[in-house]
Amino acid sequence: MRITRFLLLLLAVLVTVPFASARLHSAQDQPAADAPHRAASRAARLAREVPASPPPSAYNDHPRLAIILVIDQFRGDYLDRWRADFKDRGFDLFLDHGAYFPDCYFDYANTKTAPGHATIGTGAYTDGHGINSNEWWDLARNQERPVTSVEDDRYRIVGAPDSSIPGDQPGAPPNAPKYLPGSSPRNLLASTVGDELRLATQGQSKVFGISLKDRAAILPAGAAANGAFWIDPASGYFVTSSFYMSQLPDWAIAFNSGDSIAEAEQEAGLSNVTNFYGQVGRTAAANSYEINFAEALIQGEQLGQHDVTDMLTLSLSANDILGHRVGPDSSEEEQMVDSLDEQLDSFFTWLDKNIPGGLGNVWIALTADHGVAPVPATAAQYGLNAATIDLKKLSSNLNYAINMKFSPGEKVEYILPHQELPYLSLSESEFMKAGINEQEAESAVQQLLPAAVASLVPPPPEPPSTDMPAATPAGSTPAIQPSDKRLPPRPVLFRSYTREQLADGPWPPTPWGRLLAHSYSPNGGWYIMIIPAAYQMQAFPWLGTNHFTPYSYDRHVPLGFYGAPFAPGIYRGRVEPVDLAATFAAVLGINQPSASVGHILTQALKPAADVVYPKPKPVPPVRAHHTRTEIHHPGETSKAAPKARTSKAPAPKPSHP
Ligand SMILES: [Zn+2]
Repeated sequence: MRITRFLLLLLAVLVTVPFASARLHSAQDQPAADAPHRAASRAARLAREVPASPPPSAYNDHPRLAIILVIDQFRGDYLDRWRADFKDRGFDLFLDHGAYFPDCYFDYANTKTAPGHATIGTGAYTDGHGINSNEWWDLARNQERPVTSVEDDRYRIVGAPDSSIPGDQPGAPPNAPKYLPGSSPRNLLASTVGDELRLATQGQSKVFGISLKDRAAILPAGAAANGAFWIDPASGYFVTSSFYMSQLPDWAIAFNSGDSIAEAEQEAGLSNVTNFYGQVGRTAAANSYEINFAEALIQGEQLGQHDVTDMLTLSLSANDILGHRVGPDSSEEEQMVDSLDEQLDSFFTWLDKNIPGGLGNVWIALTADHGVAPVPATAAQYGLNAATIDLKKLSSNLNYAINMKFSPGEKVEYILPHQELPYLSLSESEFMKAGINEQEAESAVQQLLPAAVASLVPPPPEPPSTDMPAATPAGSTPAIQPSDKRLPPRPVLFRSYTREQLADGPWPPTPWGRLLAHSYSPNGGWYIMIIPAAYQMQAFPWLGTNHFTPYSYDRHVPLGFYGAPFAPGIYRGRVEPVDLAATFAAVLGINQPSASVGHILTQALKPAADVVYPKPKPVPPVRAHHTRTEIHHPGETSKAAPKARTSKAPAPKPSHP
C-alpha cells in the first residue's frame, strides 16, 4: 500500500516538474505533489519570518501623526524653478530626504479648489466624490445665488466673534452680512483617508482639517473628522460648524483671544484690517498664522500622543489668494514660496521637538489642489493666444440667440447669472416654462455657443489709410490687410459638453476621454461645460489669472512624501494626486477611501524590514522624593523606566538629518 502511494507520488512529481518553473509565482497557492516537504520547509520559513510584534501600522501608532500638507494653487514646476532658493529642511525635506514625484497631474478637467481638495482626501475624482466646483446653482436650495460646495444651512458657524454675527441672528452688529449658513461635507459622496482611519480604529484616531477656506478645511478631512477649522473672513477668528461640534475647544478659544491675529496683521505690515482673509490672507503672514494654529491644535488635541495614528490635513491658502492677483511668474510669488520654505522648516523643527520620538515618527505628504495659468497678458506677450472671455457678454449673446430661437421678441433670462467657467448653468424653470426639456435646451445652447464666442472676437483693425490698393473687384471676398503688428488675442472655443453628454459618454478610449469621464457631477442642474483654448480664461476685474481647465498648467502639482516607509529619491514616472490617499491607506494598513482610484506608489516604498521608527524617549521618572538608587526595586523587570534612565544607551538619534 505504502509503495503504491510512493509510486503515485513519484509519478505526480515527474508530471509536475516541467511546469514548476512557470508556476513560481503561484507555487504557494497550489498544493504540489511534494506538498509534505514543501509544507515543512514553508512552515520553517514562516517561523523565521514571523516578527516578534505586529508590523508597524496605524493600529500600533506608526506613524504617530500623518500630515497631508496642501498648498493652495502651487504648480508642479515651482519647486524646480525656485530650487536654488531653498534652505534647511523646508521643501528640501521632500526633495532631498523624501520621495518626490515631479510628474504628478490631476486626471480631470475641472481644476478648482473644492474638487482638488476633495480629490486629495478621497483618492477619487469628481465622478467618484461628487464635487465639481467651488459653487454651483442648486435651484431647489436657493433661487437667488449659487450655493457653495460646503455651505449647509442645517448647521451654524461656531466660534465667530460678535462682530461677525449675521444679520438674521440675535446680537448682530449694524453692518453684519445678511446670512451666514453653517458648513458640512454634505456634497462629498466619498469617504476620505481620514474617515477610513477613524473607522478602522473605532474612532480612536483623531483627524482634523485646517485652512483659511471652509471647503479646503472640510473636504480633505472628511465627514468622520473630529473637526475642521477655517477662518471667519472679516476677523480672522478660526471657526468651525455645528456639524462637527457645538462650541470651540478651549485651546481654539484661547488662540482666537490671544495675540495671534494682531501678530499676523503686524507681520503683514497692516493696521486697521477689516477683511483679514483678503488683506492678511494674501501675505506670507497668513501661512505663519495657519501653522501657528496647527501647532496649537496638535498640542491642544494631543495629536501624536495616542495609541493609534492621528491625522491632520493642513491647506495653506495664502499662495492662492496672492497667486490669483499676481500670477505664477511674478517676484511676489517667488517671495511667497521662499517665505513658505522657511515657515515649513520651522514647522518641521517644531514637530521634531513636540511629537514623541521626533519627526521620524511623523509622515508628511506634500501636494496642491491645482496649478495655475500664466496671467493672460504675460502669455500674450510671448505670442500665445491668451484671450480673456467676457462671460457676462457671452451669456447675454447666448440669451439673445436663445430668445430668437424659442421666444422671439421676448427677453427671457435662459442663462443663470453669477457663473464661473468651466460651467454655464441654464435656467431650468425658464426652459420648462417654454416647454423645452433638458436635452433640447442643452443641445440648443451648445449649438449657439460657437457663434456667441465668435462675437466676442475684437473687430479687425482699421484698414491702413495709405495708398494700399483700395477696392476689391465687385463680388469677390475683401482682401485681408496684413498687419505689421501682432493682433490681440481672440477667444476660441476648444470644446463644449452638455451635462447629459458628460453623464452618459461614451468616451473615446483616450487620455482625453478619461479626463472628461472623471469630471462629471450632476451638481449645477442643467449645464454646459465650456473648454476654451489653452491660456484663455474668464475675465474678472479683481483677478489676474485663474485655474479651471484640463490643461497641464492647471493639472500639474507637486507630490512628495517624507516618513519612515518612503525611500528617498526623485521618481520621474507619471503619478496622480489620487495616489496619495491610496498610498497612505496601504501603508497605514487601513481600507482605501470608498471611491479611491489611486495606485499605491510601491516604487517609493522601502522594503518592510528597512522601515524603522525612532523610539520615543521614555518619560523621565519623578525624582523629587527619590534618589537614583532608590528606584531600583528588587525584582523590578528590565522593562521599567529606570533601566532606560540609567542605561548608557546612546541618546535617541536625531530623527532627521
Ligand atoms: Zn485652490
